[in-house]
Amino acid sequence: MSDFEFDLFVIGAGSGGVRAARVSAGYGARVAVAEEYRVGGTCVIRGCVPKKMLVYGSHFAEDLEDAARFGWTVENAKFDWKTLRDNVLADVDRLNGLYQNTLDNNKVTTFHERATITGANEVTLASGRAVSAKYILVATGGWPVVPNIPGAEHGITSNEAFHLEDLPRRVVIAGGGYIANEFAGIFHALGSQVTIVNRSDQILRGYDEQIRDRLLQISLTKGIDFRFNAPFDRIEKRDDGCLVAHFKDGKPPIECDAVMFATGRTPNTDGLGLESAGVAINDKGAIVVDAHSRTNVKSIYAVGDVTDRVQLTPVAIREGHAFADTVFGGNPRTVDYACIPSAVFSNPPLAGVGLTESQARQQLGQIKVYTSDFRPMKNVLAGRQERSLYKMICDAATDRVVGLHMISPDAPEILQAAAIAVKAGLTKQAFDDTVALHPSMAEELVLLK
Ligand code: NDP
Repeated sequence: MSDFEFDLFVIGAGSGGVRAARVSAGYGARVAVAEEYRVGGTCVIRGCVPKKMLVYGSHFAEDLEDAARFGWTVENAKFDWKTLRDNVLADVDRLNGLYQNTLDNNKVTTFHERATITGANEVTLASGRAVSAKYILVATGGWPVVPNIPGAEHGITSNEAFHLEDLPRRVVIAGGGYIANEFAGIFHALGSQVTIVNRSDQILRGYDEQIRDRLLQISLTKGIDFRFNAPFDRIEKRDDGCLVAHFKDGKPPIECDAVMFATGRTPNTDGLGLESAGVAINDKGAIVVDAHSRTNVKSIYAVGDVTDRVQLTPVAIREGHAFADTVFGGNPRTVDYACIPSAVFSNPPLAGVGLTESQARQQLGQIKVYTSDFRPMKNVLAGRQERSLYKMICDAATDRVVGLHMISPDAPEILQAAAIAVKAGLTKQAFDDTVALHPSMAEELVLLK
């Protein structure tokens, strides 16, 4: 196919890289991939997948509490962190093997070492071997940002959270985004005392205000502490192993057993050798690409978090697939970034698609907002006061649903299906025309007032 050793060299075997490698190989390309850590990437190895398993594991705390109201007596219920941790890590090993099999079955050569770019058509492996390729795809993902403060080395990130020897009795989580709220729910349910500390005065910026406010209220009621407008000054480690988080502006320090930084993720471009080929990056260190994920160097492409477009696994997968279709499949394709559903696996979870109320007001002017604020049947019988909130935003001129947001048990499961309707541009009337599926929480979607 070409004079190069490979037609495609992929750097990074995460969600985007593996999809691109597999599909390109399916089109007959000779493909190699280099991965310095473990095949599977952040999502599978130290992100979405093990996190979701921890969410399941932690939810038993409330389920067991509620069980009594449903007639069950569960005596001597005990939780053992190491059992959950090790079972989760064992499943990660299983998935890691499946990802490797996918590459092997598609005759993709895997180099288990770091690769850096040393030319427009060349990468050099950590072993010193130079490899030529017609195309290079950078899919190196992102890496947690740790604020540059004294004592930051005493903290952990989500990377380490999956491997903790013991559950911290008291944990301070820095940041108010996805990871902070998800791990706050996990740690709190498993018995840790949790304080979320954010530099600004809000959590989950970008999500609908009413929905995130509901999460804040529910989290506070559960016993999660929040401290806002509190930039860190330093982390002190005492002789007894305790940590003390100190803040600027004279805010009182917090003593804890672990500090977890969940302060965003930065594109993994450091030391990749991008400059040797003249690949342009932006001021956040992300690789600049066009709609086909091509960089300013014609033979080099990039997909996923390293491009900092939308930091979500399914988006990286789509970008990787579109790359393969375009470059090796003779079917030039771009990814449609409109109406991407997303969820936060907090307790309870929240999910959304399309415009928030304030975005819709700004973009459309006249809008209609429909809500349902209800207590799920299971919570009623369990004696739990937590209420769910569904919110639909419509363009007043056309009745088209432009945004759907919810916080509720199973919200991500329900929203995925409803997102199809929003993406398809259906109207509120179309929802109303659909008969309710009773009794369910999802039926509230077709009964919104
Ligand atoms: P987020 O971008 O969600 O949140 C980052 C938080 O850290 C914000 O509250 C932000 O505050 C704060 N912050 C940012 N920079 C600093 C800093 N230098 N010092 C102090 N605070 C800071 O990032 P996460 O780390 O939670 O997650 C990273 C990404 O991974 C997410 O954006 C998401 O795309 C993805 N992800 C997706 C998940 C899902 O789909 N369920 C789950 C987990 C991660 P402020 O609001 O003031 O900016």
